[in-house]
Amino acid sequence: MSASSLHKQLKKNLADVENRIANAAARGGRLGGDVELIAVTKYAPWPAIEALVEIGHRQLGENRPQQLLERAALFAEKSPQSELQWHLIGQLQRNKVRAVLPAVALIHSVDSVRLLEKIDEVAGELGLNPQVLLQVNISHEESKSGFSAEDVREVLQSRTPLAHVQCVGLMTMAPLTEDENVIRSVFCGLRELRDELATPDRPLKHLSMGMSGDFEIAIEEGATLVRVGSALFEGCEGQEIQA
Ligand SMILES: *Cc1c(COP(=O)(O)O)cnc(C)c1O
Repeated sequence: MSASSLHKQLKKNLADVENRIANAAARGGRLGGDVELIAVTKYAPWPAIEALVEIGHRQLGENRPQQLLERAALFAEKSPQSELQWHLIGQLQRNKVRAVLPAVALIHSVDSVRLLEKIDEVAGELGLNPQVLLQVNISHEESKSGFSAEDVREVLQSRTPLAHVQCVGLMTMAPLTEDENVIRSVFCGLRELRDELATPDRPLKHLSMGMSGDFEIAIEEGATLVRVGSALFEGCEGQEIQA
């Protein structure tokens, strides 16, 4: 695959996904611009990520902190003017918080009080005010990390607010199933939890939900951030790039 056909493929994929986002938003009575597309780059080959940035995309997401840091550093070195926004969408260990905080725009995957408190402590030391989402395991799957709905209520309503870290919304993942009703009920459940917990001081603006297989349902149910990988990089995987 040549660099120019890679660009062409990505432009087409991006336009397709953006179109589907706009249509789903319209069905939910919203504007396409109300939904932010985060390109999940975890399986994408480096040239495809570079090409995506070259055609103007700025919001990137990684699930592994190490890979996020490496790729963020590479972009900072090769194209410092690109001003990318990195989203961490996977599990964060407390010993990685210090390295990750300065590099990310938003952490979607805060899944315990201990992690939240660690982020607050390190943010204070570094003089940062990071934004985070609380990951909620709406479907109670044992294989998934995240707070239960009960725990989220406890964290947001009963604990004293943290000094440095700001919770700006909730994140969830739908179970792996073909059953659209099950998927929809999980997304709807996250929105209802947000509506219950939002206050004027803490609007919980963001709902991060929806991946390649289910982002349209998520948007219909109120997603503001969708995390899309495979649909965006389709046809770009494993290709040899010719200079
Ligand atoms: C990999 C991943 C995605 C993107 O998945 P696709 O199906 O490739 O779109 C979204 N969210 C999280 C948390 C992920 O780990």
